[in-house]
Amino acid sequence: MPTPTPTRAAGLDALEDFVPRAGAAYARDRNHDDGPSRSNVSGLSPYLRHRLVTEQEVVEAVLAHTGLGAAEKFVQEVFWRTYWKGWLEQNPEVWRRYRHDVAQLTAGDLPPGHHDAVEGRSGIDAMDAWVRELVDTGYLHNHTRMWFASIWVFTLGLPWQLGADFFHRHLLDGDAASNTLSWRWVAGLQTRGKTYLATASNISRFTDGRFSPAGLATTARALDEEALPARTPVDPADVVGRVGDRVGLLLHEEDLEAGSLLAERPDLVHTLLATAVSADAGARSPSGVSPVVAAFTAGAVADAAARTPDASGRPARVLTDAAPATVLSWARAEGLDTVVVPFAPVGPVAERLEALRPVLDAEGIALVTVRRRWDGTAWPHAARGFFPFRERIPALVRQL
Ligand SMILES: Cc1cc2nc3c(=O)[nH]c(=O)nc-3n(C[C@H](O)[C@H](O)[C@H](O)COP(=O)(O)OP(=O)(O)OC[C@H]3O[C@@H](n4cnc5c(N)ncnc54)[C@H](O)[C@@H]3O)c2cc1C
Repeated sequence: MPTPTPTRAAGLDALEDFVPRAGAAYARDRNHDDGPSRSNVSGLSPYLRHRLVTEQEVVEAVLAHTGLGAAEKFVQEVFWRTYWKGWLEQNPEVWRRYRHDVAQLTAGDLPPGHHDAVEGRSGIDAMDAWVRELVDTGYLHNHTRMWFASIWVFTLGLPWQLGADFFHRHLLDGDAASNTLSWRWVAGLQTRGKTYLATASNISRFTDGRFSPAGLATTARALDEEALPARTPVDPADVVGRVGDRVGLLLHEEDLEAGSLLAERPDLVHTLLATAVSADAGARSPSGVSPVVAAFTAGAVADAAARTPDASGRPARVLTDAAPATVLSWARAEGLDTVVVPFAPVGPVAERLEALRPVLDAEGIALVTVRRRWDGTAWPHAARGFFPFRERIPALVRQL
């Protein structure tokens, strides 16, 4: 798999290249991790994660070529992303606790074995190779992520939150929902009591014999946690806030594709007086992100800025940082009364927008969030497990 270039054009090329492989071949071969050159999966996740390319575009391209029958498995995988986001949206306490736990765990002495594990010196050859691959490339195959998380929790006995944090800091596609909830799933917290146990024979089979680690845990007792509060239903409104006359658009790293977002809302924004992009990849973790992730995010932001001119044709301004004061000074300088932003699902960007809102409010500037129809339509169905959600995918595909 080539190192992804952080532009929408490169993402669309990667999509075009993958589309002929999204049918039966994907369903048959996708679980194999035969090394970094893999062609059995799409490698689209860094693009989807920042919405340089959208879920809708990916599903439409695959369906136009292959149809839902043969591409069902691939389409379901794309909807896993949507499902996790919808589930976390309705259970934000899970993110709050995760943030709290990571802050506490990284503030004190780290548990024995942690340092060796993240330095690729655990002594388990497969883990050590995967650490190097993750750190160097920002990517791991899905099956490998499952084995890694399982060995981290059940063989090395390390806190799942620190493993999730390590992934979040290093994955180009690092995502609050997919990452946190997948780690919880492996640990037996997400589907309560059901864990994922990595075995040497499974690893050997699906790495085509590259690895067959000895000494792995043979049992996986589910972790436990305090019961979660009742679910918060998804807000039915796709647009929250009142749009004034002097409107600016502020993109962020959760959604860098203004064209299709605003095309869904032609009623909302007639004239964009100013456009800007801000990002803070480092907010994913108290320990910041890897240079590979920082560079990909910065590249994606620069690409979005060039693609998002305002009404007079000026490219979007890349804000020096994502602090509320920086956004406020841009909005003031442009004389805005409204800052429109793509809706940010539960995660670091949503936290940032929560801090920004009162700062803009105090200056009489409204912060208006616009959620894509894709999210607004699918998320309410992510209230329970994935299987009831999966039943709805054909109907969702028709609707969307
Ligand atoms: C412990 C663990 C942590 C993970 N952390 C992340 C993360 O931070 N960000 C992330 O995007 N995915 C995460 N995943 C899910 C999955 O591993 C990746 O989305 C996938 O490997 C990306 O590679 P791809 O684009 O080649 O996938 P493909 O197999 O080509 O799938 C196409 C797209 O579908 C979505 N997708 C596929 N599988 C999953 C899945 N299981 N869950 C959610 N979405 C999926 C992705 O957007 C992906 O790009 C994690 C999985 C595990 C087990």
